[in-house]
Amino acid sequence: MSDARATARTMPSGFSVGLDIGGTKTLAVLLGGDGEVLAQTRLATVRGPAGVVDGAVSAVQGVVRQAGVPIGDVTGVGVGVPGLVDSGAGTVRHAVNVGVDGAPLELSTLLSARLGGIGVEVENDLNVAAVGAAHLVEAEGVGHTPTDLAFLALGTGLAAGIVLDGRLRRGSRGAAGEIGHVPVDPAGPPCACGQRGCLELYASGSAVTALWPTTAGRPAPVELFEAAARGDLDAVAARSTYARAVAAAVRMLVLTVDVQHVVLGGGVSQLGQPLLDVVRDALDDESAASAFLRSLDLPGRVRLAPGRVAVGAVGAAVVGRAAGARARDLAG
Ligand SMILES: [Zn+2]
Repeated sequence: MSDARATARTMPSGFSVGLDIGGTKTLAVLLGGDGEVLAQTRLATVRGPAGVVDGAVSAVQGVVRQAGVPIGDVTGVGVGVPGLVDSGAGTVRHAVNVGVDGAPLELSTLLSARLGGIGVEVENDLNVAAVGAAHLVEAEGVGHTPTDLAFLALGTGLAAGIVLDGRLRRGSRGAAGEIGHVPVDPAGPPCACGQRGCLELYASGSAVTALWPTTAGRPAPVELFEAAARGDLDAVAARSTYARAVAAAVRMLVLTVDVQHVVLGGGVSQLGQPLLDVVRDALDDESAASAFLRSLDLPGRVRLAPGRVAVGAVGAAVVGRAAGARARDLAG
C-alpha cells in the first residue's frame, strides 16, 4: 500500500516539465499526471541571459517532442538554477556558473512568453533537488508521507535543501539548510564567509581535494576512495576523516529538524555505495558511545538519491506542476 502514490494521483493532472540548468549541462524531465517520469534529456548549457532563456526553450521543446506530447498539454514548467532566486518574482541573479550576473534575469516571464503562456516557476537548484528527492522517495512508498527530507549537497560548497511535511522550507531569509557555514572548529582555517572552521571546509567536495590532492587528474573523491580500497593507509585515514565530517552534517540536520531521510547528493555522491557505507560506519561509531544517538537511528536515515533519474529536474517538474495549478486557479 502506498500512500505516496495515492497522494500523487490526487495532485493536479496534466504534464509538467522540469529543467535543471547547471554550469555545463541542462537536464530536462517530462512528468506525467501521476508523477511518473515519461522522458528525460540533456543539452549543453548556453551561458549568458539570452543563452539561458534560449536553452530552456530548446530543452522544454526537446523533452516533449521526445515523448510525443503536444506542448499545449504541458500545464507547468519548473526551472532549477544555481543562483539567487526570487521565486515569487521568477527572477534569477548572481548565477555566475551560467553566466547570469548583474541585472536580475526575469526568467519566469521570458520563458513563459516563449512557451505560449505556460506557467513557469523558478527555484534554486538545491531546493529543486530536495523536492525531487522527496518526490522519488514518496514514489518508492517507503516511510511516512508527507515526506520529511534533507538533500545534502556535497559539492564545491556544502548546503542542504529541506522538505518538511512535504513542503519546501526556504526559511525567512532563504538561509534554511545553510549548514556549511556552521563553524565546527573556532580555531580552524578562515572560510570565504568570514568565519573560521566552517563545516564546509571539512565536509564539502572541495574538502576532499584539500585532504587528498589529485595525482591522476580524476576527481579527488574517486582517487581517494580507490586508494583507500587498495589499502593505502593514508587514504584510509583521510577517507575516515572525511566520512566523520559528512556524518557531522547528517547529525546536525537530524538534530535540528529531525528529518526522516538525509539524501547524499552533489558531486561526491557520484561515489555511490562506498560513500554511503563509510558515512554509515562513522554514524555507527558515534552512536556506539551514545544511547541518545543510537535511539535516533542516524545510519538508517542517510541514503543515496533514488533511481537513475535527474533528481533536480524531477523536482523542478514537481515545482512546475504547482505553478501550472496556480495559473489555472487564477484563470478560472
Ligand atoms: Zn563559512
